[in-house]
Amino acid sequence: MVRVRFAPSPTGPLHIGGARTVLFNWLFARNHGGTFILRSEDTDLERSSVRWEKDIADSLRWLGLTWDEGLEVGGPHGPYRQTERLEIYKEYLARLWLGGHVYYCFCTPEELEQDRREAMARGENPVYSGRCRHLTPAQVEEKLQAGLKPAIRFKVPRDTEIVIQDLIRGEVRFQSRDVGDFIIIKSDGIPTYNFAVVVDDITMRITHVIRASEHLINTPRQVMIYQALGEEVPQFGHVSVVLDVSGRKMSKRMGDMSVTAYARRGYLPEAVVNFLALLGWSPPDNKELMSLEQMVKEFSLDRVSKSPGIFDEQKLNWMNNQYIRACDLERLADLALPHLEKAGLEPVSREWLKYVLDVVRDELNCLEELPGHIEEFFPDTVDIEPGALPHLEAETAPAVLTEFLLRLDRLPAAASYGEMQNQVQQLLKELNQDMKRERGVSGRAVFMPIRAALTGRDSGQELYYLVPILGRERVRRRIEASLRQVSRGA
Ligand code: GLU
Repeated sequence: MVRVRFAPSPTGPLHIGGARTVLFNWLFARNHGGTFILRSEDTDLERSSVRWEKDIADSLRWLGLTWDEGLEVGGPHGPYRQTERLEIYKEYLARLWLGGHVYYCFCTPEELEQDRREAMARGENPVYSGRCRHLTPAQVEEKLQAGLKPAIRFKVPRDTEIVIQDLIRGEVRFQSRDVGDFIIIKSDGIPTYNFAVVVDDITMRITHVIRASEHLINTPRQVMIYQALGEEVPQFGHVSVVLDVSGRKMSKRMGDMSVTAYARRGYLPEAVVNFLALLGWSPPDNKELMSLEQMVKEFSLDRVSKSPGIFDEQKLNWMNNQYIRACDLERLADLALPHLEKAGLEPVSREWLKYVLDVVRDELNCLEELPGHIEEFFPDTVDIEPGALPHLEAETAPAVLTEFLLRLDRLPAAASYGEMQNQVQQLLKELNQDMKRERGVSGRAVFMPIRAALTGRDSGQELYYLVPILGRERVRRRIEASLRQVSRGA
């Protein structure tokens, strides 16, 4: 039975790179009918906060990556927060004492720093010297009596090789002499990551540890703890880093890369998930647009690349645009509303909003861009750009505009925006034919004055979309205003 976990330190929001690690875990679990667990590594007391736990949980829910055990939902292997598991760590620590795998270390930070510098100067790997490994029981007792607060170190076996068959990176070998005895309990009694994570993974019966490749260097330490405890070692899969398009590590400079920031900017969760999946995983037939269900069916770790994933925001935008195009209009309207509200734009009605969204959605990378695309539909008058002015100054423009308004007024009330669009399309066709017959002008000479009057520009949406969006009243005001402007100018 597959059991995997995501074990973030709640010291900040869920980053988009972290979300990819979750996604791979989640897809792996779902593909195998296994269990996905969310727990919190909150032993950094100063930087951890439940606020970030909540952000991470909310981000996962937003992405649709639900967990079966862990934070908020509980489960048989809890608690799921490390600071609430200290008693459990003590039990495992006791087993390590019993087996002679650990010892007290009284070295001060200054001594350790001195050792480190000397080792570097000798050109050696700066691993712990092992000074306290050889203290006699009497010496230890004396220091404890003196009130010194020791850390607890793990005795790394000398000169052994640790071999990991990584599910993504293949075989990776480590020499224990490069590791050095490491601290598993700090002098304040709090376990370190390498110890706590092993105890958590053992007690939660984790079968596969799928995590960021930056943890590969920790893996030999963890394997040695498993071995010392006589526990079965899980399988590891280390997921590559994510780089930006110029091959650099993604950084704060690129703006807020949290999942919530993408949600706020109006990316659809299915687009983000689809994009993240392809940052390193290639589905068997290299298709690009995939639902979560499809990914669950096809996911396997052996198609996850060990080379870095490249975060190409243009590709994300393309993908989000594809999902915006395909999105149900009711849902898109719900998603759009907060963006309009933020921009102070009040939609005429729900039907209107859906119609507008349908007209402009092909142009949107994300919903945050929506106000910029539709704010021009709100004012009663427009400024005429210099490039559009000649269309209004044409000799036949006043006649075209007047006739257009007359005919628009005569249109029967439409039952829907779609119907009005058809009416306007028909009206424009007839207007064009009649103008050609009566005044010898057609095509651009008819449509451009209307466009210029309605938008102040010489390009933009089709007129038959624009008129229903603006509504008869606003169309009238805009046309009358430009007629006045032209007659004043003449
Ligand atoms: N707290 C660690 C992190 O957020 C967990 C690493 C692991 O999965 O073992 O990177």
